[in-house]
Amino acid sequence: MTANGLHHVTAYAGDPARNVDFYTRILGLRLVKRTVNFDDPTTYHLYYGDSAGSPGTVLTFFPMAHAAPGRAGIGETQETAFAVPRGSIGWWTHRFVAAGLRHEASVQAFGQTTLRFRDPDGTMLALVGVDDGVGLAWTGGDVPAEHAIAGFHGVTLLLAEAAPTAAILTDVFGFVETSREGSSIRFANGAGLGGHVTLRAVGEFLRGRPGAGSVHHIAFRATDDAAQAAMVQRLEQAHGMQVTEQRDRNYFRSVYFREPGGVLFEIATDIPGFAVDESAESLGQALKLPPGLEMHRDRIEAVLPALA
Ligand code: ZN
Repeated sequence: MTANGLHHVTAYAGDPARNVDFYTRILGLRLVKRTVNFDDPTTYHLYYGDSAGSPGTVLTFFPMAHAAPGRAGIGETQETAFAVPRGSIGWWTHRFVAAGLRHEASVQAFGQTTLRFRDPDGTMLALVGVDDGVGLAWTGGDVPAEHAIAGFHGVTLLLAEAAPTAAILTDVFGFVETSREGSSIRFANGAGLGGHVTLRAVGEFLRGRPGAGSVHHIAFRATDDAAQAAMVQRLEQAHGMQVTEQRDRNYFRSVYFREPGGVLFEIATDIPGFAVDESAESLGQALKLPPGLEMHRDRIEAVLPALA
């Protein structure tokens, strides 16, 4: 069992320059890694997070300028929520109004003030007011430190039924059910950041279709390879899950499985982290390629669009 929560969340986006502008300038996150989709090196893979790219803070995108929009439905992550200081929701509401950003009036959800909004591709996001401090929040942008996003609060998964997914959350990732509201059940595991998963069960409905504005997968943390292997063993032996072989993602090592509700889950190691191929001070500034793609750098750089 682990007290670790989410490691990262990965989504599809449209125009990459617009993606960078929104997440770094409007939300004030740090671009902590500028690389390519290892499975399709003509596409960027952009990572945003806190100042160190700490696990539990990292939202990543595969941006493609002319990507078709996704369609919301069951078997996918419906909403990704960030934690901000409790007193900052008003400041953020004002910022979203000034930026002309689509957002809703803040509401109380599970006893916490929640401000729901969308990025330019329609990705459903939220800010949740919390008591904890700002952690290693990035303060290199124009969001003042006292309002900065600390990292993930958690995610909401849209499912036909909650129980099969809940069994994985509780038995493999150490979550416990904390409360219910309507058709939603919230689970928490005590991790400071990314320690909440809400399951929203709506019965049989259209499945989600991937595209710009939709989440591709969510990753949970494993401290190291041994912790990951223990979770894989539990998934296979107690839950009948088929888990992939481990893949080296340069900044973490990952396994993947599709949980019973249809959402693609990953387990990613905390090690080695984003400073493995560039200094902590210069994270995200240069295009980084894994060793196997470095020999093709000229061709890759020639097809990638400018980011700013
Ligand atoms: Zn991932």
